[in-house]
Amino acid sequence: MTHLINHYATHQAEVRPEATAIVAGAKKLTYAELEQQSNRLANLLIRAGCERGDRICLFVDKTPAAVVAMHGVMKADCVYVPIDITSPTPRVQMILESCRPRLILVDESGVRLASESLSHMSETQSPMVGTMEASDVVGSQCVFYESDLLDAEPAPPGSKNAPCDPAHILFTSGSTGTPKGVVISHQNVVHFVDWGREYFGIGPDDRVSGHPPLHFDLSTFDIYGSIASGAELHMVPAKANLLPKLLSSFIRDSRLTQWFSVPSALTMMARSETIDHNDFPDLRRLLWCGEVLPTPTLIHLMERLPHIQFTNLYGPTETTIASSYYTVPECPTDPQEQIPIGEACTGEQLFVLDDQLQAVEQGTQGDLYISGEGLSLEYWEDRKKSEAVFLQPDERLGLPEKIYKTGDLAYQGKDGLFNFLGRNDSQIKSRGYRIELGEIETAMNALGILKDCAVVGVPTGGFEGTAICCAFVPEAEADVTSQVIRSQASGLLPRYMLPARWLSFESLPKTGNGKTDRKKLKEMFAEAMQAESQTVS
Ligand code: AMP
Repeated sequence: MTHLINHYATHQAEVRPEATAIVAGAKKLTYAELEQQSNRLANLLIRAGCERGDRICLFVDKTPAAVVAMHGVMKADCVYVPIDITSPTPRVQMILESCRPRLILVDESGVRLASESLSHMSETQSPMVGTMEASDVVGSQCVFYESDLLDAEPAPPGSKNAPCDPAHILFTSGSTGTPKGVVISHQNVVHFVDWGREYFGIGPDDRVSGHPPLHFDLSTFDIYGSIASGAELHMVPAKANLLPKLLSSFIRDSRLTQWFSVPSALTMMARSETIDHNDFPDLRRLLWCGEVLPTPTLIHLMERLPHIQFTNLYGPTETTIASSYYTVPECPTDPQEQIPIGEACTGEQLFVLDDQLQAVEQGTQGDLYISGEGLSLEYWEDRKKSEAVFLQPDERLGLPEKIYKTGDLAYQGKDGLFNFLGRNDSQIKSRGYRIELGEIETAMNALGILKDCAVVGVPTGGFEGTAICCAFVPEAEADVTSQVIRSQASGLLPRYMLPARWLSFESLPKTGNGKTDRKKLKEMFAEAMQAESQTVS
């Protein structure tokens, strides 16, 4: 019986040691290698002084070594924090300040960012450094190198962790400008993985995609779902995301049996006509999660790939990977038809409630809440934020257990299925990335070249998801164009948070009570986008 995430790999190393566990380009790792290398790493971490519950940040690319790193950290009873290595340094520094890692693990692709991020830290604050596949690193704090891994003890260290202990912290966009860390326990992940493995029937003959980056919670299902099933995990190269032809060749050439991604990757492939009729003969199932898959994309895919099962998974990071599912029974005929987010996965409950936390009638819109096994422990060291959305059991309110307020709007249909209706706050999804518009505004205001600015999201219906639109008022006399702002903001924000549309104002439109009129701004951007698309077509 598996209780900790790392037990899956240990079990597979016993039953199929020579089977391939992970493939990334020319790099491959068997289950025996994964087990032994992660044992060695765990022993090195413990020898370096890492203790139970210590955070270890991973500055690594999506390779087999990264999966070794995750397992090594968990086997040392520590908590891993995957860092987005494409993020600008100041954002990574905020994450380091927040989680105070005992050690960071670095590979070649993370060296520059790691060095820059540590450069502002005092010696006492600075974590230790260990390298994985990196020739050169980061000053004097390096306590072990890749070569030390070869000499470390291969036997598993004794583990003290319990299933309720944290396994990883995933930092996601924060509305006040500081990323917030969602603390995920071993049992959160094991619960979903066991459900998913059984529901989808994943087994040792499966070849599973590893599409999202490691700091996305969806990646944990690819990795641990595949390992738990003794399957082969095929890491999708990041550059394929921009090249739909490459993405579909990857599915074909790797003979994938399971594809799981955010909808934007699917819409991009559909739009660029890179999928033939009856293409991907090995593929059995296609799963998406993270945002609405436009129904025209679904129709395109279902018409071309009639041999595949299509499943919509829904859920926030805070409830671990997904909380509900809907396997589409037949190809929709109407491109306007809305695809439900379905029913709760075993062990999870979805509720649609009103402002008083009372259930609304079937068919009525309300706020979507989730309870159950997937509920994250908390936001890392942020009691206020945790209390605001993780509501504790309260008899008076009729809450028998802890529930999470998703911020999503939904209704439950007469058929019992849940349907997603959008957000009730300023969180958006753009190309699958979860973004708080407040984080972008905070960065824009920090540039010191704008008198005023507002960032709004405008749905595009296309692969971009929601377009990030920035309305700005330049500081008097400053020669500020959208290019100047974009270029300066790229030092503070990841690329995917940079606004794609801009409008310059002398003053932003206001509502009757003097607030920025965001509704009006959205309309203005939508009109501009509409005019643009008419000019193009
Ligand atoms: P994340 O934490 O990145 O997984 O983002 C969670 C949010 O993404 C949810 O609260 C929803 O707003 C949205 N989301 C996730 N899955 C779906 C889905 N299948 N359909 C529509 N929206 C989704």
